[in-house]
Amino acid sequence: MLKVGITGGIGSGKSTVAQVFETIGIPVYYADLEAKNLINNSEEIRIQIKQLLGEGAYSQEGYNKRYVAQKVFKNKELLLQLNEIVHPAVRAHFNSWASSQQNTPYVLKEAAVVENKEGIDYLIYVHASKETRLNRTLSRDIQRSKDEVMGIIEKQKSPEEFRALADFEIKNEDQLLIEQVLQIHKKLIFS
Ligand code: ATP
Repeated sequence: MLKVGITGGIGSGKSTVAQVFETIGIPVYYADLEAKNLINNSEEIRIQIKQLLGEGAYSQEGYNKRYVAQKVFKNKELLLQLNEIVHPAVRAHFNSWASSQQNTPYVLKEAAVVENKEGIDYLIYVHASKETRLNRTLSRDIQRSKDEVMGIIEKQKSPEEFRALADFEIKNEDQLLIEQVLQIHKKLIFS
């Protein structure tokens, strides 16, 4: 099964683009959502995260995001170790999901964090300017402050870094998405 990634910075429109692909029948795996499911429901991951960060990582209500965020916020090494627990589990889950998909020329994996193209045949980068991303994110996530979103934007990859990894780019500023999606779709089905 051909595997295609969709990535881009916060508020660039990854999910929106993924939904356009869904309307033409392509199955999409939303990696952040699935990671949350695994963190909350996989016993194996729960054990490993507790070993890394302490019992407080989970409470009666489940995963304690606040506690975890405080632990890893200023500790890059811990954050890396946490990712080393979660990312391989998501990759394995995606692979088994992908192999269960039938009657489709390819599947999509929507993910904000892409370090390399491991396990992915092609990568689509969704681009929008910083200003657009900031405005869209603030309108969508009313609880977030401008400083918080700018902080996230500055920590994420630059357009040049995304482009160095990507095979296709979708411009999500004022351009129509459907036409760009159909162009990439055609290239993918003939690849
Ligand atoms: P995140 O990284 O935070 O998950 P994302 O890259 O998946 O974000 P979306 O959630 O798809 O981005 O888009 C961010 C917001 O911008 C959403 O509210 C979405 O409806 C809106 N949006 C996306 N594309 C457009 C567009 N072309 N025109 C207007 N609004 C848009």
